[in-house]
Amino acid sequence: VKDRGGSAIAALTSDDHERLNRKAFIEKRLIYALDRKNLQLLYQPQVNLNNGKVERVEALVRWTDSEIGVITPDELIPIAEENGLINEIGSFVVETACRQLKEWQTKDIDLQISINSSIREFRDKDMAKMVLEQLKINDCKASSLMIEITEKFALEAEAERSIMSQMKTLQQEGISFALDDFGTGYASFRYMLMLPISSLKIDQTIIQSITKQEKIQKLINGMIQFGKSLDFQVTAEGVETNEQFELLRAMGCDSLQGYIIGHPMTAADLEKWLN
Ligand code: C2E
Ligand code: CA
Ligand code: CA
Ligand code: CA
Repeated sequence: VKDRGGSAIAALTSDDHERLNRKAFIEKRLIYALDRKNLQLLYQPQVNLNNGKVERVEALVRWTDSEIGVITPDELIPIAEENGLINEIGSFVVETACRQLKEWQTKDIDLQISINSSIREFRDKDMAKMVLEQLKINDCKASSLMIEITEKFALEAEAERSIMSQMKTLQQEGISFALDDFGTGYASFRYMLMLPISSLKIDQTIIQSITKQEKIQKLINGMIQFGKSLDFQVTAEGVETNEQFELLRAMGCDSLQGYIIGHPMTAADLEKWLN
């Protein structure tokens, strides 16, 4: 191949081709799946250590395509963020979560659902409106919904007025925000005070190293006390062992989430699990 474009293409390895093909195919299948609402939410319980109750579940998206198989969120979400389909995933998540809240309400199951949100969803100026509409359609209290944002999201949002104002609108209506993956690398704390965040979720990679060194234990203890002193509710995620559970409880962590408590499960399985 002699022309420039040709040589650029020739420079791609067969691995690159495979990756690009897979991405393009995922994109195509995702449009198809979203059209048919062929995605699913699983719910992972969180235990409130102050009263021992499960009061909140995190909604996690799942997608199994009939041709590709399972596409994990770690592969799906970055692709969807890049091509913009994340907004449609977000609508699906909000809609499904609100419908689930309504169903649980009729069954007298009182749970808050925490959903994950990407910053690109909030760049749509109708995001807040869409969320409030879905709550209304399903006759749900706004306080039944929590939105998790990452530190990267928070850092960027602080500089974007329209995002900040949408978050504040939702907060005023009663929706709460949690800062996800807390401690994974953005050493700026200013946004924690600028944005309407009420909870901190300490990242699982930090939690899982808690039993390794005394210094790590001191770090996590410090993060918990730091959060609490600023009136944040502190949650630890990715808790897998009894030892981690006991250490975090002793440190005064407010709530715990992880395999030791329960895996992400379907709404039906969660209802059985609760009984
Ligand atoms: P995340 O929000 O930090 O979610 C926690 C992840 O850890 C989930 O992976 C969950 O299944 C897993 N997990 C929970 N407990 C444990 C544990 O004890 N040990 C270990 N090793 N893992 C545990 P999942 O479901 O694969 O999701 C991965 C990431 O994808 C999420 O990380 C979140 O950032 C993103 N994501 C998932 N669903 C959505 C969604 O609906 N919208 C958006 N924007 N992002 C989502
Ligand atoms: Ca999360
Ligand atoms: Ca997390
Ligand atoms: Ca994560």
